[in-house]
Amino acid sequence: MSRLDNFISRMTAQRDILNQICPEVAKMEGLVLELGLGNGRTFHHLRERLPGRRIVVFDREVGAHASSIPDAENLVLGEIRETARKFIGIDAALVHADIGTGYDDRDAVTATWLPDLIARLLRVGGFAVSGTPLDHPLLQRLPPPTSEPADRYFLCRRV
Ligand code: SAM
Repeated sequence: MSRLDNFISRMTAQRDILNQICPEVAKMEGLVLELGLGNGRTFHHLRERLPGRRIVVFDREVGAHASSIPDAENLVLGEIRETARKFIGIDAALVHADIGTGYDDRDAVTATWLPDLIARLLRVGGFAVSGTPLDHPLLQRLPPPTSEPADRYFLCRRV
């Protein structure tokens, strides 16, 4: 599969999962945390799908389109591994992490800290959506609601 086809497949799975869970998240109390602002496309999508919900966004720097930059009070700059730790116990309803790099060795390092961080950020019953696998005893993997292959994007629920 070409990198373009793979990218389209990943983005399709990402959108299908977010669209499926947003109505569930809308019924739940709790913040939404967006780990990785990037261009701001998924932040923009979540803002549309969850009107009125506070979304706190994390990145090293702001590189987003001007239409998709969070307010200063909802933007946390720095290394996510450090900055998001301050939100542990916040009982988030949704954590979306799109910080995979496509390099197995770098993503393996992220896998050593991201699942545990997300488990500590979420409320029981809250959702984790991620571009990289989230292997953790408190994060139950759910089948992704998409026709794309199951390893494109990952959906878990905090137990
Ligand atoms: N979901 C975004 C969108 O739809 O536009 C794309 C996110 S982009 C793939 C990943 C972003 O995460 C980059 O902007 C990168 O700077 C940020 N990032 C990755 N790892 C990070 C880390 N450990 N700490 C802070 N930011 C990180």
